[in-house]
Amino acid sequence: MSSKRKITVAYGDGIGPEIMKATLSILEAAGAQIETDVIEIGEQVYLKGISSGIEPKAWDSLRETKVFLKAPITTPQGGGFKSLNVTTRKTLGLYANVRPCKAYSPFIRTHFPKTDMVIIRENEEDLYAGIEHRQTDEVYQCLKLISRPGSEKIIRYAFEYARKYNRKKVTCMTKDNIMKLADGLFHKVFNEVAQEYPEIEADHKIIDIGTALIADKPEMFDVIVTLNLYGDIISDVAAQITGSVGLGGSSNVGENVAMFEAIHGSAPDIAGKDLANPSGLLNGAIMMLVHIGQPEVAEKISNAWMKTLEDGLHTGDIYQDNISKKRVGTQEFAQAVIERL
Ligand code: NAD
Repeated sequence: MSSKRKITVAYGDGIGPEIMKATLSILEAAGAQIETDVIEIGEQVYLKGISSGIEPKAWDSLRETKVFLKAPITTPQGGGFKSLNVTTRKTLGLYANVRPCKAYSPFIRTHFPKTDMVIIRENEEDLYAGIEHRQTDEVYQCLKLISRPGSEKIIRYAFEYARKYNRKKVTCMTKDNIMKLADGLFHKVFNEVAQEYPEIEADHKIIDIGTALIADKPEMFDVIVTLNLYGDIISDVAAQITGSVGLGGSSNVGENVAMFEAIHGSAPDIAGKDLANPSGLLNGAIMMLVHIGQPEVAEKISNAWMKTLEDGLHTGDIYQDNISKKRVGTQEFAQAVIERL
């Protein structure tokens, strides 16, 4: 019997196939004990008339392996198509979106070299719960749903994460000065759960000033836990200020299944040109290796990746005169990481 862990893999659209190939070649060279089951998602599936963008049989693979490494996909424009990401999160109950945002100064330019925060976003409720309808031709309504069980689950996840990774502070962000009941519930549950973790500092910021502080003083944050929409926005702000959207990886975690991906999209403007930075997906894959109990391989890859950045081998999105030594393409970058394993 094989000791390899079976995982589900989707190559996605745009730059997806290039960065997935690069990522898997690094995992293989590092000795990751994985076996891949490839499923089709995205444009080709939408074109077949499947509005969810995922083949019905792909769910069987996901339910069997319980681990999904996913490249970005292109969401078709226009009505009738559902967001594959939202469908996947809801169908598999992936309630927590975890996005580490770290500066890699001086190798990647940033104004905030000490940034090292993790954003934990509620993934199933809020304005993304899908309760949206037309009232009249001039009025459309989208309902915001916040529940106590949903809030408790994500907030406890954030504190457990902080405890596990030796983080010192969890900041909750809401707009409960205006949405006193819905956001108020989230804040109230945060205060309750925080009591169970006396060793971790608990803080609250109203989302507007919280976002401004992320943009101006990101170093003051450690773990942030917030509602779905706010989390979606602040995690892109945080990724941008640390250097490039091409660097960040993320995980979407549920009780039974977890999905790992890059934070960016399918970048159709640079697709097929060997220009894309595979680091975001690679960082997602590193989180996956920790999740499936292969932390030594994860650390080995992480160190080799950092060394590649330190040695100045940079893809176009992070290339800078004076700091970078060589502009490399996607596959050359992957090869450089492999040489440093
Ligand atoms: P994007 O993240 O694809 O691209 C934004 C900009 O960043 C582009 O200039 C792109 O070239 C650059 N970029 C992104 N990733 C890069 C990388 N790895 N290396 C170098 N440069 C990189 O965002 P977009 O253009 O708004 O969206 C394109 C498509 O992706 C849309 O169809 C959108 O719906 C989809 N999308 C998918 C996901 C996902 O599957 N998880 C997430 C976001 C967007």
